[in-house]
Amino acid sequence: MKRKYIFVIGGVMSGIGKGITTASLLKILEAKGYKATAMKIDPYVNVDAGTMNPIEHGEVFVTDDGAECDQDIGNYERFSGENITSNNYLTTGKVYQNVINKERNLEYGGKCVEVVPHIPNEVIYRIKKAGKEANADFVLIEIGGTIGEYQNLLFLESARMMRLKEPENVLFVLVSYLPVPKTIGEMKTKPTQSAGRLLNEAGIQPDIIVGRSSMPIDNIRKKKISIFCNIEPEDVISAPDAESIYDIPLAFNKEKIGERVLKKLNMRPKRNREGLSEWENFVARSKKGGKKVKIAIVGKYFQTGEFVLTDSYISVIEAIKHACWKIGCKEEITWLSSEKYEKDKKTLKEISNYDGVIIPGGFGSRGMKGKINVIEYCRKNNIPFFGLCLGMQLAVIEYARNVCNLEEASTTEANENCRHPVIDIMPAQKKIIKNKNYGGTMRLGAFDCKIKKGTKSYNAYKKETISERHRHRFEVNNEFKKILEDNGLVLAGVNPDLDLVEIIEIKKHPFFVGVQFHPEFKSKPLNGHPLFVEFIKAAKNK
Ligand code: GLN
Repeated sequence: MKRKYIFVIGGVMSGIGKGITTASLLKILEAKGYKATAMKIDPYVNVDAGTMNPIEHGEVFVTDDGAECDQDIGNYERFSGENITSNNYLTTGKVYQNVINKERNLEYGGKCVEVVPHIPNEVIYRIKKAGKEANADFVLIEIGGTIGEYQNLLFLESARMMRLKEPENVLFVLVSYLPVPKTIGEMKTKPTQSAGRLLNEAGIQPDIIVGRSSMPIDNIRKKKISIFCNIEPEDVISAPDAESIYDIPLAFNKEKIGERVLKKLNMRPKRNREGLSEWENFVARSKKGGKKVKIAIVGKYFQTGEFVLTDSYISVIEAIKHACWKIGCKEEITWLSSEKYEKDKKTLKEISNYDGVIIPGGFGSRGMKGKINVIEYCRKNNIPFFGLCLGMQLAVIEYARNVCNLEEASTTEANENCRHPVIDIMPAQKKIIKNKNYGGTMRLGAFDCKIKKGTKSYNAYKKETISERHRHRFEVNNEFKKILEDNGLVLAGVNPDLDLVEIIEIKKHPFFVGVQFHPEFKSKPLNGHPLFVEFIKAAKNK
């Protein structure tokens, strides 16, 4: 079989679920017995998502091979069995960087290098490479932004060129929006018609239109879209708002999107319905509810309102949910801005209202003091605490200050000349920073960690060697290992190759664990992450 390529393109406006559509289609094709992979192409000039502020762009998702990606890659991994690699994330910046590097290496053989065709050719090369290296039957390509934008024109041009060369292997899915204005009370198809035309202007005829709306699309409107957008009514897929993103593959399956895709590409399912049965069971289980657990996330990337916040910590939120579903309880997540706990320690009392506290990853010194106060409160009051990356580093600082009596303990990220740098930058990283070489240079991707038997972490993972994803420059300073251990801090996990502390714990506490890595990136809806599961269990028992 020749490899098939399905482009997912957005119309009308952004934020209507192109990423979830792509992830759902990925799931459905897998359920039909095919090997599928998904990639995202973002129009940014940034070479990757690593240099973008999470408030503006949402979470930076990290792959095993250390790519700093858009959060959609996280959804692809959560929905599918795929381990997505750096091949599957592309930006305008990355494409231009590759072309310019090739030009500098004389790889164009003295030719004049031009935006067209060299940029689309590079995009096509990268799409094919992603498919080949994943050994996929299907490659889904989500194009960031919406049609009609100047920024993603060259990506659409690449898609058009691919279709021209191999029409039998390329398909276009338009994800569009159908508003139901309150004053009219009726679903309007015109914006979707316009989106279809705009796509036509780019030389592309959609094969399938996914119509996002607050309610299901009726047959009258499906026919209308069919006539105006030049597709069959069966190719208009109704995608009403859903209670949970994990409902979407099932909703799409009911609309037979998988069958339509296969039919258009002259293919048959290798497997039928049973492919989604595990997912169906999980979705049913997730809706059962159970005992409520109140989890506080103490962070700082949410000054612009709750909507942006949830995007900044999306994998953490999903990991909490997955763990709750695994043990049959219901999460209630509250966002607490750490700066509030800096001045007045009395405010810390309200932390007792929660069953568990998470301090997620973060950068820079703002808000650190408040987080350290919260950690101290959790430690002393037996409140389950889970520190992720920066959260772990701050737990070490708190312990050093308040238990080891190293009053000036800190991280050199906040205070370069502190007397007790219990968290310090690695020498190799120091050089990088000095040269202002910030992009893609952190300690990134999967590293092994060896866990001590008898620890909470060992009981969670039930094995000695694990691999987790990283994204940071600072580490526990090994010069302070002895004093920390002598005072009771358990260094439960260490990277065997670099001798770096990966997990800290304290004994005699329901759950007090900090990890230098980001376990949230590997949590799956069908299989919650072991550490999140243990944390939620402790929270449930509080
Ligand atoms: N700022 C810290 C570091 O660079 C932690 C990073 C993080 O939480 N991802 O080491």
